[in-house]
Amino acid sequence: MRKIADFVGIPGTTPGYKPASLPVIKDEPFFDRDYNLCIDCRRCLTACNDIRGVGCLEVKEVETPQGKRTYVGTIAETLVDSGCKFCQACVTVCPTGALTDRTLDPARREESMVPCKSACPAGIDVPRYVQLAAEGKYGEAIAVVREKLPFPGIVGRACFAMCEAACRRGKLDDPLSIRTLKRVSDDNDTGIWRQFSKQLPPSGRKAAVIGAGPAGLTVAWYLAKKGHAVTVFDAQPSSGGMARYGIPSYRVPGEVIDREVGEVEKLGVKFQYDTRIENMDDLFGQGYEAVFIGIGCQGGDTLGIPGDDLAGVIDSPTYLRAATMGLVNTPDGRCLRPPPPGRYRRGSHRGCGPGGRRRRPASGQIRGLRRRDRQEGPHHRARRFHADQPAQGVCRR
Ligand code: SF4
Ligand code: SF4
Repeated sequence: MRKIADFVGIPGTTPGYKPASLPVIKDEPFFDRDYNLCIDCRRCLTACNDIRGVGCLEVKEVETPQGKRTYVGTIAETLVDSGCKFCQACVTVCPTGALTDRTLDPARREESMVPCKSACPAGIDVPRYVQLAAEGKYGEAIAVVREKLPFPGIVGRACFAMCEAACRRGKLDDPLSIRTLKRVSDDNDTGIWRQFSKQLPPSGRKAAVIGAGPAGLTVAWYLAKKGHAVTVFDAQPSSGGMARYGIPSYRVPGEVIDREVGEVEKLGVKFQYDTRIENMDDLFGQGYEAVFIGIGCQGGDTLGIPGDDLAGVIDSPTYLRAATMGLVNTPDGRCLRPPPPGRYRRGSHRGCGPGGRRRRPASGQIRGLRRRDRQEGPHHRARRFHADQPAQGVCRR
């Protein structure tokens, strides 16, 4: 406003600003309100009531030393009591500074205004799909997710949900269950996204992808949409990579992976399983012009303590891979044998995975050991919930 005023110029006859002794509220979450600056343009009212459909604002009329004055205030004493969702729509449209967000960092505007979107590694437009899901438009919500990644079902179940950690609502009470909304949308997907999903005509060019995990499949998806002929090679007998072989199936069922990989196949992508690529020159010799290597991080780490290498000490990825392939405690003894009942080191994401996976086929007790208090751990609350289900007969800590 100052810049505009300087540019346009203010005539000397313009009356000076006279505060009308209206309330100035600075003790509510996120927003400051100075009703003296309100010009009753009602933009905030439209944003809140008509666009957001919340309806926690109304026009107020008061007597001031300068006569009758109208401004837009809240329907109850506070924003919280009025049912405010702190969506920021009103603040964004207020032209005078009567409504301001004190938590905004002007130097990192988008990041501080939409931290969930900034925190998402894929850059998904979180507010847009959350709003569509809230309106029951699940297919449209999935279309928004698919603008950035082709696996909403897998991500809706397995993502670490950095968006939730950044959610502004978490500063007020609890963050929105953003990841679960993605899963709910996927479960109720109408497939409307297919209407907007375009595939270019064949380009006549070939690309190879090594690794049928999330990275390789995403690359295959986008290359195929650009019209290139893509073949995906994987050393395992089926697709999904760490989504299938590194995440327990009670969190990401194989059917979900098959369904989403099926969409990649529908674009014409070919798969060659049980195929380990040892030499890239062979691929170039077969006419592939580009090769993407997406083999993931499949090795487990060790604690670096005495006994790390003893028989029966198993790292998390090795155990989960064997469990998915049905190679744990098989009758013929050709299997991996974790120590029953087991102790699984760590209470982190990886520790929760084998802990939860381990107790599902067997009835032994699992004890999770960790060096910090369980509340301090880096594991997501949903992981811990899964690993803690008392109905499974597992002791905690
Ligand atoms: S922040 Fe609150 S008052 Fe403003 S538009 Fe959103 S719900 Fe309405
Ligand atoms: S947008 Fe700002 S100036 Fe306009 S009515 Fe709302 S608070 Fe007042």
